[in-house]
Amino acid sequence: MDIVDLRSDTVTKPTPEMREAMAKAEVGDDVYGEDPTINHLQEVAAAKIGKQAGLFVPSGTMGNLIAVLVHCQRGDEVIMGDLGHTFLFEAGGVSALGGVFPHTVKNQKDGTLQIEDIIGAFRPNDVHHPVSKLLILENTHNRCGGVVLSRNYIEEVGELTHKHGLFLHIDGARIFNAAVAAGVDAKSLVETADSVTFCLSKGLCAPVGSVLCGTTEFINKARRLRKMLGGGMRQAGILAAAGLIALDKMVDRLAEDHLHAKTLAEGLAQIKGIEFEMGMPETNMVFFSLKPEVRLATSEIVTKLADNNIKIGVVGERCFRMVTHRWVTDEGIERTIQAFRTLFT
Ligand SMILES: *Cc1c(COP(=O)(O)O)cnc(C)c1O
Repeated sequence: MDIVDLRSDTVTKPTPEMREAMAKAEVGDDVYGEDPTINHLQEVAAAKIGKQAGLFVPSGTMGNLIAVLVHCQRGDEVIMGDLGHTFLFEAGGVSALGGVFPHTVKNQKDGTLQIEDIIGAFRPNDVHHPVSKLLILENTHNRCGGVVLSRNYIEEVGELTHKHGLFLHIDGARIFNAAVAAGVDAKSLVETADSVTFCLSKGLCAPVGSVLCGTTEFINKARRLRKMLGGGMRQAGILAAAGLIALDKMVDRLAEDHLHAKTLAEGLAQIKGIEFEMGMPETNMVFFSLKPEVRLATSEIVTKLADNNIKIGVVGERCFRMVTHRWVTDEGIERTIQAFRTLFT
């Protein structure tokens, strides 16, 4: 029985076509700027996201960190959501490595930050305060349920931050999930952003890597910081070759993952004892929790599912996350729903 691994879309393995392209990739020393496949990927990525230039980085975490380090000096402040990936899941890098102060604003259920809260977070020009320099939005918003931030909202925030002299960075780890779900071009979701990070290694199935995009000047600074952080790689065109296929072939099919998430959530919604406090899925993530009357322990659920070769994520005391992706089939979705039915009856 195949394993249905719903812990994350980061578990995706490269497709056969990717492996073939990786084997054949033309490579060179990318620290010298001489890897043709990396150079090509960076151009394609920047064009796809509507920015002047791109930089291939080993991870989304490094992409976000570099963006903060380019935009901010030590002692500056970055405004971000209190459920944001950069705040929760990037090991505090912006403070530890950048000396940049995180100022959190409450994330609303829909992944947004309220405009009044953002305005309230801007620091007055006074020697007592750090300087507000950057604001980060996340799209899709992971911890808020894989929800999509709309183009209108992002534009409004972009105008506001620029008016106050701040930069806007978008952590678009899953920006293509957002674009596919909203039925818009990814470019239109990041138009007002000064920089964007997106991951090739999640739903897009590449084995490694993210791309940081922005102006040519921004990327030139970012390249030096990537080297400083130890992210300057050599013949990494082998990885970029998979990234090119990710961008060319794997974006449109994300709709299938979204449909699977919807089917899965609808199936679970029929089961007494399961609730969807965070709402039904908008993209490829299904978050659900146990109603108070349920006696099953969280760990028991995880173990029993594992016995059926189904892996799911735990994100809280009685809250779970399942993420659909390329390697989860119709059959896997059915088997998962069935396993939950059995468990709860
Ligand atoms: C996964 C993720 C990242 C970072 O990606 P890594 O490549 O795992 O470092 C950043 N932001 C969000 C929203 C993510 O989900």
